[in-house]
Amino acid sequence: PGLPVVLGDNDKIVQLVANLLSNAIKFTRSGSKVIVSAERGEDPALITDHRFRAYVKVSTTDEGIGIAPENLEKIFEKFQQVEDHFTRSQGGTGLGLSICKEIVLHHGGKIWAESTVDVGSTFSFTIPYEEKLPGVRPAASDAAPRQKLVP
Ligand code: ADP
Repeated sequence: PGLPVVLGDNDKIVQLVANLLSNAIKFTRSGSKVIVSAERGEDPALITDHRFRAYVKVSTTDEGIGIAPENLEKIFEKFQQVEDHFTRSQGGTGLGLSICKEIVLHHGGKIWAESTVDVGSTFSFTIPYEEKLPGVRPAASDAAPRQKLVP
């Protein structure tokens, strides 16, 4: 509830979330849970005297095989797969997360993973947007640009 509308490329953000969900399912044994959550956050730095930067953070959490700490950044590089029996048996190209990272960076956001081996992983990304300070009348130059809306 209360999530803002953010501007972005609808198809690419669907591709991004689908990729994270397909990994969450792929690296999790059947019968366990995958949770998706979304929340609004604020960056305290003002970008003008009446606007500041906020973001929507989306996370997928699984109860899967997990990722060792030394691989948490590597997996976002092209063709990087954690070399273990389970990963190899699942197939894949090792490209999905590098595409996710490209999409998020083009939206000005961040993407990262937190994980515990044999417990599960959480992948999170942010999509930033600008918000007006409450009670401040917007200047004419603040009119929203015409772009596709992502609910
Ligand atoms: P692919 O899934 O095609 O191998 P990705 O770029 O999507 O390629 O993922 C890279 C690697 O990161 C995977 O091969 C796997 O080792 C690891 N990985 C990604 N998502 C998860 C996850 N949810 N749980 C455990 N490992 C994961």
